[in-house]
This record gives sequence, C-alpha cells and structure tokens, in this order.
Amino acid sequence: MAENYDYDVLVIGAGPGGYVAAIRAAQLGLKTACAEGRETLGGTCLNVGCIPSKALLHASEYFEAAASGRMAAMGVKVTPELDLPTMQGQRIDAVKGLTGGIEFLFKKNKVDWLKGYATFKDAHTVDVAGKSVTARNIVIATGSSVTPLPGVEIDNDPGNKNGGVVVDSTGALELTAVPKKMVVIGGGVIGLELGSVWRRLGAEVTVVEFLDQLLPGMDGEVRKEAGRIFKKQGMTLKLSTKVTGVTVKGRKATVTVEPAAGCATEKLEADVVLVSIGRRPNTEGLGLDKIGLELNARGQIETDHDFATKVDGVWAVGDVIPGPMLAHKAEDEGIAVAENIAGLTGIVNHEVIPGVVYTMPEIAGVGLTEEAARQRGPVKVGKFPMLANSRAKTNHEPDGFVKVIADAQTDRVLGVWCIAAVAGTMIAQAAQAMEFGATSEDIAYTCHAHPTHSEAIKEAAMAVTGKPIHI
Ligand SMILES: Cc1cc2nc3c(=O)[nH]c(=O)nc-3n(C[C@H](O)[C@H](O)[C@H](O)COP(=O)(O)OP(=O)(O)OC[C@H]3O[C@@H](n4cnc5c(N)ncnc54)[C@H](O)[C@@H]3O)c2cc1C
Repeated sequence: MAENYDYDVLVIGAGPGGYVAAIRAAQLGLKTACAEGRETLGGTCLNVGCIPSKALLHASEYFEAAASGRMAAMGVKVTPELDLPTMQGQRIDAVKGLTGGIEFLFKKNKVDWLKGYATFKDAHTVDVAGKSVTARNIVIATGSSVTPLPGVEIDNDPGNKNGGVVVDSTGALELTAVPKKMVVIGGGVIGLELGSVWRRLGAEVTVVEFLDQLLPGMDGEVRKEAGRIFKKQGMTLKLSTKVTGVTVKGRKATVTVEPAAGCATEKLEADVVLVSIGRRPNTEGLGLDKIGLELNARGQIETDHDFATKVDGVWAVGDVIPGPMLAHKAEDEGIAVAENIAGLTGIVNHEVIPGVVYTMPEIAGVGLTEEAARQRGPVKVGKFPMLANSRAKTNHEPDGFVKVIADAQTDRVLGVWCIAAVAGTMIAQAAQAMEFGATSEDIAYTCHAHPTHSEAIKEAAMAVTGKPIHI
C-alpha cells in the first residue's frame, strides 16, 4: 500500500498510545514505523510512570504491613528491615522487563523502531535523527511531561549540588534514601501515590493542595473519605493552601505556603519536595507550525471522533489530546486510530474511562461523579461500606465503600466509585456493565463469587433500590 511513501503509518512516540497504535496498524497489514526519542520503548507509563510507581507501591505496602503490626495481627510476626537498593532494583528490573517486552513485540509484528525525536517537515514527512522519513499517515502520540511550578527549579539528580531535593515524579521514584521530611505539592493521584510510598518507608509526609479536598475530579464523597484515610495513615494534609515559594540550602528545602484565600504565611522544612501539580502535553520541537496544526488553549492537539486532526493524514492520541491522562485511555485510542487508518471503525467511549489511585486502600471510579450526575437530572444512589463486606472484614481491610449512581427514571448506571483494597480490580466490572448500558438492577441480579470484595458492588447496586442484604 505504501507505494509513494516509506510507510503506511508512522507513529511518533512509543508510549501506551503510540506503541499500541503501531502494533495494531502492523497487525492490520500496514507497513509501520514508530519513532521514539527515549532510549527504551514504553513511554512515560513503562519508564517513569505507571509501572515503576506500582513496583514501589507494591513493595512498600509489604514493608508497611510488617512494620505497622498489620501482619502481626494475623499471626505473622516479623521485624522488617528496609533494603532500599533491593527495592529500587526490583523497580528497575520491572521496567527493564516490560520495556524490553515492547521491543520484542515490535520485532514480532515487524514495526520498525526509528531511534530519535521526530520533527515534521510537512504533513507526510518527518525528520528523525537527521533522516527524512515519509508516511501516508502520521500519528502524534508524544504524550506529556511534568508541569513545572513557576519559580521552582526541579533537579532530580542527587549527584548535583542541590539535586534530588526538589524533584518531580521521576526524581521521587529514584530517591536513594528515605527522606525524613517530604513535602508533596499537589494532592492528585501521582502526589498521593508517591507520597504514600515514602510515608510507608518512614518519611513524614505533608501534602499541600490548593483545593479544599484531595483528588480533584473525583466524586466529592470519595475525596472526603480519601482525605480522612490518608490523615489516619499519618499524612499531614494542608488543604486550601498554596505554595508561594521553595528555597533550597544544601540538602534542605523550605516551602513557603499560605492559605489559598491569602495571608498568614507558614514555612515547611523538607529534605525532599515533590512537585506534582499535573502534566502538560508534549508538542515542543514537533514542528507543528510546518503543517499548520494549532494547539487549543490547554496546549493540546484537538482531534475529531476518529482521532484525525484537521491536517489530512495526521492523527493524534493519548496524553497529547484532550481527556484524562491515563495509559489505558491512550492504549484504547491507539487501537482505534490504527483501525480508523485501516478503514475499519475504531471507537473509544470517553464516558467510560476508569480511573484508579493505587494507594492502600485503592480508590477507583468510572463514569459520572454524584455531583455531575445530579446536574444532569434526578439520580438514585446506593452505597455499601467495605466494613460490611465479609472478605474485606476478614482480611482486616475495613476502610472504604462502594457507591453506585443510577438514573432515577431509567435505572441506568451513570457512575460507580469504590474505595477498597482492590478497588482498581473491582472497577473493571463496573466499566463493563456501563459499556453494556447496564441498570443497577442488572448488577444487583448478577451472581458474584463469595467471599469477594466485588460483592460490595452488587450490594451497592442492591442499595440503589433500598434492598442491600448485609447491612
Ligand atoms: C508517576 C506516574 C504514574 C502514573 N501512573 C499511572 C497509572 O497507574 N495508570 C495510568 O493509567 N496512568 C498512569 N500515569 C499516566 C500515564 O503514564 C500516561 O497517561 C501515559 O503514559 C500516556 O501515554 P502516551 O502514549 O500518550 O504518552 P507517553 O507515555 O508520555 O509516551 C510518549 C512518548 O513519546 C516520546 N516522544 C515525545 N516527543 C517525541 C518526538 N518528537 N519524537 C519521538 N518521540 C517522542 C516520549 O519520549 C515518550 O516516550 C502515570 C504517570 C506518571 C508520571
């Protein structure tokens, strides 16, 4: 097919959006290449995001279970000793194994990896490491990077004079010692996950959040309960508080904060400051001006429903386009864009993208928050506490609840929210039910295995009509 071009499809960026698009395009018989500037494939997610953070969350959870006496309460007495180099080593191994796995998949599917950063010369030509490459279709999947905090310099390298003191998420994954005091700027998913890792390993963690609750964008009740749980776990939360400056002297930082409403300045001392106020799309250096592609007010590339940009033959997916910055959203868009390029119908239902915070307990949601659902019309809400779920109770995991929000007239499920030890796994059934247009009654009358945490979803669905059994 690629007669006049080197490739049918050239994908820029090998994160979950890009590598998945490239593999699916190749599976569909299209001659495909993927340009990646990083040394390894897998993008933010595999290299410095989802995977390494989960490697540390998983390991640190074991440490805390032992150190806090939770294991002793179940008859397993151990006195844990932290071996941070080994813990970090298994993080590095996990990343190596998975990024190498993508390289294997590229070879297996005959996707050419073009090593280097790509820049547009025109809508069908890019320059990669000084070489011109042409393609009938080009997919921009360049992802996102950390949003800087104006006036605050990030230096992740502990080898530098003040390095490793004010870090971003990448630096926070790579700390070589447990900080005594850590200040996390931003109470979103990444700040809470990485703050939890270092708190579990012994750091005193203070989270500074501008808004009046943690986890912006999530259901209000979930945000409130999450705040209560993180406080109970020992995090200090400074909500409705803004950071006005960070200064570094040697290996110590001072973070100046004040109430969001102004006045009454306070100074927080820290050994490590994690700046986690969000991420912004990667478009710099892409040469979008060469193809006449403009960004929206948030710096994102706009696409239509098929992931086509307004420039013929140029498509975009993942963190660089609007929507939640999540790996599975990027992956699904990667599959859809490849299918659309191949002339098939690739669709992503952006109404049903689950989001998960991988703390303990996990926090997960899909669909509308109760607040957003109520704005659309009357709703019925069913709730069930994990304390009344036999498995959670038996496993000593009493925190959290499940909440099902359904349309008051049609009973169609509009949103499901869970705080539970395995909420990230539980939310999949809610997403699937919603994708199939389920009512709360459909979930309530689906047989769930016993004893499982997922029974709480069934009970919350039963509670929508006021008839849960176990409470
Ligand atoms: C600490 C952390 C934890 C996270 N945890 C989770 C999680 O648990 N679950 C979840 O769903 N999401 C998580 N995320 C978010 C997730 O990593 C992103 O949503 C996802 O990686 C986006 O995929 P993408 O393909 O759009 O872009 P990216 O993964 O950012 O990949 C883009 C790639 O493009 C390359 N690139 C950029 N410009 C060019 C160019 N001009 N030429 C060639 N290559 C280029 C970059 O080097 C990069 O490798 C986390 C993120 C962070 C930082």
